[in-house]
Amino acid sequence: MKVVLGKLVDLLFISERSCVCCGLAFKPSDQGFLCENCLSEIKAIALLERERPQWISQVGVFAPYEGVVKEAIRLIKFEGIKPLAHALGEKISKHLKTFIENFSPDIVTPVPIHIRRWWVRGFDHNVEILKGAKVDFQEVLVRVKHSKPLAQKGVEERKKLLKDAFKVKSKFLDLIEGKRILIFDDILTTGTTASVVASTLMEAGAREVGLYCVAQA
Ligand SMILES: [Zn+2]
Repeated sequence: MKVVLGKLVDLLFISERSCVCCGLAFKPSDQGFLCENCLSEIKAIALLERERPQWISQVGVFAPYEGVVKEAIRLIKFEGIKPLAHALGEKISKHLKTFIENFSPDIVTPVPIHIRRWWVRGFDHNVEILKGAKVDFQEVLVRVKHSKPLAQKGVEERKKLLKDAFKVKSKFLDLIEGKRILIFDDILTTGTTASVVASTLMEAGAREVGLYCVAQA
């Protein structure tokens, strides 16, 4: 009876669902959004090291910004699929923790989104990915300037748009003094955002800033 009921439930609900990435129909064993195939494609891939963004002493990247990783980030940010942020966090956890062990930061902090974006999406993707990765972090920064997505912008324009975009929350000013800080972001593109965040932290007294990104474009 249980089996029949299970099959019925599958028919009613699960078999109508499909992988948001590849469109494959769901098996009951798959988790909510990506099929096992797509999930298994999310793994650490070593990249050629590029020039470090200004003010950044070390860079860690999980994988290139392509394939399932790219699609997962898009779904999290633009379709607002929060559980996928946790699933992605679980996937990067081991790699991120190894980087943290080597860099040994005093504080890990996500690059924040502006409150207006938070209202639209309902969550901060970087915060949720970090939660999924089960890494201790503190939200040291606040984004005080709203800007349109930077994806199509060149370096100089990014710099202009991001000038004074971030602030250290006043309650953290004492805490970051002389500290080594690791900033966490989803995508590393030109490195302009990371540089701006790092200079904000160093102007506020941080000693050293490293960067970890899920994907490099
Ligand atoms: Zn799939």
